Parts: sequence; C-alpha cells; structure tokens
Amino acid sequence: MDRLAIVVPCYNEEEMLPITTKALLAVLSHLAKKGKVASDSYILYVDDGSKDKTWELISGFHGENDQVRGLKLAGNVGHQFALTAGMLQAMDDCDMMISIDADLQDDTDVCEDMIDKFHEGCDIVYGVRSDRKKDSLFKRATAQAFYKLMAALGVKTVYNHADYRLMSKRALEEFSRYEEINLYIRGIVPMLGYQTDYVYYERKERLAGESKYPLKKMLALAWNGITSFSIKPIDFVTGLGIFIVFLSILAAIYSLVSYGTGHVVKGWTSLILSIWFLGGLQLFAIGLVGQYIGKIYLEVKHRPRYQVETYLKD
Ligand code: UDP
Ligand code: MG
Repeated sequence: MDRLAIVVPCYNEEEMLPITTKALLAVLSHLAKKGKVASDSYILYVDDGSKDKTWELISGFHGENDQVRGLKLAGNVGHQFALTAGMLQAMDDCDMMISIDADLQDDTDVCEDMIDKFHEGCDIVYGVRSDRKKDSLFKRATAQAFYKLMAALGVKTVYNHADYRLMSKRALEEFSRYEEINLYIRGIVPMLGYQTDYVYYERKERLAGESKYPLKKMLALAWNGITSFSIKPIDFVTGLGIFIVFLSILAAIYSLVSYGTGHVVKGWTSLILSIWFLGGLQLFAIGLVGQYIGKIYLEVKHRPRYQVETYLKD
C-alpha cells in the first residue's frame, strides 16, 4: 500500500492548526478506509519559524496522534524554502506527497482525485483553481497578470496553480537535484517532465487567521519567478539599445538629407542625435555585458540537464 505524506508549511498558523489537523486527519482516514493510501500515512507540518503557538500546537498533536509529524525550522525562511524542507524530509519516507497550505483555501476533497491519478501512473498532479471568486479582485487580477507575463517570458508554468500538488517519490527525488537558492518551485516542477495531470477545484476563503503573504512578499515571489527562469529582460535591454542606435542613425540621415529645408534646427538636432546615439550605444553595451552575466547566472545554477524517465536493463 502506498504511503501518503501531506506536507503543510506553517507560519503563525495557531488559529488554523486545530481546524487543519482535524480536516487532514479525516482526509487520511477516509483515503485509508477506501484502500487508496496506507494507514500509516501522515501529515508533516513544517513550522517556518513561527512567533506564535504554532510549534506548541504541532508537538501537542504529534503527542496525541502518530499520524502527525512536525519539522521545525530554525528561523523564518519563507514559504518556498519551508515547503522544500518538508518535501525533502518526506521524500525518504513516503510513496507520494501532497503539499497544501495550512489555511485550507485549497479544497481537500480533490486529494482523492489526485491519488487516483497517481495510481493511474501520474508522477505529478497539479491542483488548479477553476474559480477564484473568493480571492480579492486585486489578488485575482495581479495573479492572473503574472501567469500571463510568465508565459510571455517563455517560462513553463501551470495557469492558476499554486503549490497544491501531488508528487511521487521519484518526482521528489528529481526535485531534490535542483539545488538553487533563488527557488521558485512552481517553475521547477513542470521542468521535471514526468507524466502529469490536473485536478480542478474552487478556491475557498481562508478560514481563520490572516494571509501571511503581504503584497511585498507576493512581489518578491513574482520577481524571483521571472528572474530565476528567464533572461529575456536582458535581451530586451540589448534589443532596446540596438533599436535606439538604429533610430538615431535614421534620424541623422533624415536631418542631413533635409538640411536647408528649415525642418532641421541648427545645433540642436546634432546635439540631440548624438545624445540618442550614445545613450543607445550605452544601453546596448550594458545589455551585452548582461548577456554574459546571464550565461554565468545560468551556469552557476548547476541545474540538472536531464531527467531519466525509464531505464531498460538486462
Ligand atoms: N507560509 C510560510 N512561511 C511564510 C509565509 C507563509 O510557511 O513566511 C505558509 C503559510 O502558513 C501558509 C502558506 O505558506 O500555509 C500560504 O500562505 P498564505 O495562505 O498566507 O498565502 P495566500 O493564500 O494569502 O497567498
Ligand atoms: Mg492562503
């Protein structure tokens, strides 16, 4: 029987934890009863350096129930690292893992569908929000603009999917080979390349406590997502520089040709054009240096270059 680990990063979630624990234990026993997961499946809470009673609660639940485990991080490292810590901890001790936020905004009812897809042979199953009516208009608009921007920049991401997903043991093992500091899990998982599928659900409201993702953290995550996966912004600067140089040359030709027709202001035109030309040249030079830095940046990441799907032996 396959053992499931539900990984939950928690930062100051004392209000949510009692509700979350009850709900997730119910999910586990329901799945075990149906024979879909092993009865020693468990919840793994990762305490991301909470300042409230989160850890006391986790250790209390662990004392009462051996299906609750806790991993305490030394300090607050943020959602992405906390989740990674939990995933890597679960990796050695499960057959599949589902990651979910502590606030249960993501519908636990689809866990069962995820596991069915796992049994059908999927290594990664994404939870996708089919509807975000419960999110604020601002959050919805910014999130969707971001998904579109990422797609335009050529980063493979799953539209309307956050970090609610199932991953098999071997997908976790592949993931563990991505040792990057500028971590954006949602960008890495699609790179793993295993068989994937999707389950859809409606996003709910946070049941208790407040969002631990203020605008500042959201922007930081978005910026990290872009700059860790795309060097298109550097290409853009290079291209802009070339364009401006080209434009100023065209303007110079035009002013030489129409010299004497009264359209060209003496002194001003040549001055402005040389400013354009030099400005463009500088932008191009910066972009050019950026191109090399971009290469260095891709090299120092030391990302694995391939993933083995199957290995035929004997
Ligand atoms: N979280 C975390 N570390 C942080 C911030 C958030 O582990 O520094 C956790 C938080 O406890 C929750 C999840 O990340 O389980 C998502 O946070 P939240 O629900 O506040 O984000 P939102 O749904 O508002 O985007
Ligand atoms: Mg939330």
